[in-house]
Amino acid sequence: MHIDEKLTPILAEVLHRNAGEDEFHQAVKEVLGSLGRVAAKHPRYANGALIERLCEPERQVIFRVPWVDDQGQVRINRGFRVQFNSALGPYKGGLRFHPSVNVGIIKFLGFEQTFKNALTGMPIGGGKGGSDFNPRGRSDGEIMRFCQSFMTELHRHLGENVDVPAGDIGVGGREIGYMFGQYKRLTNRYEAGVLTGKGLTYGGSRARTEATGYGATYFVQSMLGTKGQSFAGRRVSVSGSGNVAIYAIEKIAEFGGKVVACSDSNGYIVDDHGIDLALVKEIKEVRRARISEYAAVKSAAHYIEGGSIWDVPADVAMPSATQNELTGKDARTLVNNGVIAVGEGANMPCTPEAVRVFQEAGVLFAPGKAANAGGVATSALEMQQNASRDSWTFEQTEARLADVMRNIHDRCAETAADYGAPGDYVLGANIASFLRVAEAMEALGVI
Ligand code: NDP
Repeated sequence: MHIDEKLTPILAEVLHRNAGEDEFHQAVKEVLGSLGRVAAKHPRYANGALIERLCEPERQVIFRVPWVDDQGQVRINRGFRVQFNSALGPYKGGLRFHPSVNVGIIKFLGFEQTFKNALTGMPIGGGKGGSDFNPRGRSDGEIMRFCQSFMTELHRHLGENVDVPAGDIGVGGREIGYMFGQYKRLTNRYEAGVLTGKGLTYGGSRARTEATGYGATYFVQSMLGTKGQSFAGRRVSVSGSGNVAIYAIEKIAEFGGKVVACSDSNGYIVDDHGIDLALVKEIKEVRRARISEYAAVKSAAHYIEGGSIWDVPADVAMPSATQNELTGKDARTLVNNGVIAVGEGANMPCTPEAVRVFQEAGVLFAPGKAANAGGVATSALEMQQNASRDSWTFEQTEARLADVMRNIHDRCAETAADYGAPGDYVLGANIASFLRVAEAMEALGVI
């Protein structure tokens, strides 16, 4: 990744001030790699330490989360909330519960979120949070006690006009419900707009659950459309089998594509007849079990423990599990097997080397901050419905989501062309989002 010489001191400072935070370094490098062209066209953005301020979170909160397990033992986890940038609106971004969570991962996610939220065109700033708590194998009671303890500290830092979290890995409707309940109890306020991804009975939005996976699929469909192609008749691999993956699989099938593989952190399944989504939902959403069970039910499918889902030949790949899950080697395998498009459902799932391999091979590549923005865009629609005490139909909400995704696609494509790199969605997404945040920051003065 080439970084313009005007920007290399900024990167050196970020690496120095945030030592050991590899994922955060990676995310900053990728954005700075695109901003050389902006600094050349609008030199004022390289002044006033604007880019330096963008790389420094406005606030970072780290806290103890004590809770009691089913055996009566006291457990301690660590909670995080990084409020990255509020130039465009209240901080907005999900909470992740996964044992790998640390401040560097939350910072990378908060940084990405700032740009993603800007791309939606909605009035939301960027933030992210979570905990190193591992929900796997925990009872409902343990999950509830953990969520209540987590919110007991976090609630001081939230508010519908301050900071509005949502879900992410390990945080779905159940966890949001427990956290909203505890927030309401602590504040004695029914402030629906303080969390998104809520259940439909207490202020949630229709289509929010589906939004990230659906949105990523809409984005890739638009991208394929620029080459006169579509999902129809295509073989597709989608990694993960969580919220994003499940609803990507659903929409791809609606668009006539055939998803032949999906995964979890233990292994992947291949079903050449097309993944039976009802079965995946039953295994993952209802029973919260492992994807290996799919092959136990479907004799035509097979399960591969470990290994790489990207070994499966596919026309379109949608990595939708976690960061850096698709390496340079995986990218070369996909290219050799004829992949034509890759859409990041997850945040930063492709390593920088993988992105380079795809772009050099002329594969259409959609970066996560653009492709997976449908989730947060629909969260902003949930906030709108909460503010007006309204509730829209599924069709109305999905139509708004489809519109937002089309706009994001077109803005990324147009910006890439304007800055001399047609077809480079990474550059287009980074520049289009940077310009929106930078303009607002400039207007607000040195804060
Ligand atoms: P879920 O927790 O619902 O699902 C995550 C899936 O990814 C699971 O199948 C999980 O497997 C797998 N996974 C998680 N960690 C790893 C790992 N280290 N290695 C391999 N597989 C792993 O999360 P979401 O679907 O919500 O999130 C997936 C990605 O999408 C994340 O990058 C998230 O930041 C991003 N995203 C999510 C949005 C949302 O609205 N939910 C919005 C925008 C982006 P297992 O069950 O074995 O852990």
